[in-house]
This record gives sequence, C-alpha cells and structure tokens, in this order.
Amino acid sequence: MIEKAQKFECKKCQKEFLVIQQENAFYKKRNLPIPPNCPECRRERRNNLRNKKELFDRKCDKCKIDMLSTYPKESPYIIYCEKCYFNEIGGIE
Ligand SMILES: [Zn+2]
Ligand SMILES: [Zn+2]
Repeated sequence: MIEKAQKFECKKCQKEFLVIQQENAFYKKRNLPIPPNCPECRRERRNNLRNKKELFDRKCDKCKIDMLSTYPKESPYIIYCEKCYFNEIGGIE
C-alpha cells in the first residue's frame, strides 16, 4: 500500500520532506500546524534545546526549601519542590 503523503519544504534547509497522511491526521486532530522543518532539522533543534537546558537555584514557592529548577527565579511560574508538588496534586502522604 502506498501512503498518501504531502510534500513540504523545510524552512531551514530547503529540503523537501514528506508528511504522510497518518502524521497529517495526527496534527489535525490536535490542532497543530504542520512542522515547518524537516525531521532532521527538527531533531537537531531538539538536541540543541536539550543541551541548553540549565538549572537554576530556586526556592520552593511553598516550603522555601532550596532546590534546582529549569525555571529561573524571575520566571512567573510557581515552582514546588518534589514533596510539595506531590502534596499539591494528590496528598499522597
Ligand atoms: Zn531541514
Ligand atoms: Zn516545597
């Protein structure tokens, strides 16, 4: 069986890449746009992101314990330490 596929041009390397129908349907179902880059460029970008991931010293917003977070102090997110996080989501203790 031949998969129906659509051709797209990578915005980065200008190489053509195919998005098979299945993949297309997957994006549609989740209301996601078709990725603008070919799979190779996407993989490269993901790797770069992962390597850049830094850890910041932060305090838990609840118990103020010192911890490391991927979000810097200035970020508006509320960061909980593992313990507070679990207490918050389900009161496991
Ligand atoms: Zn590319
Ligand atoms: Zn905490």
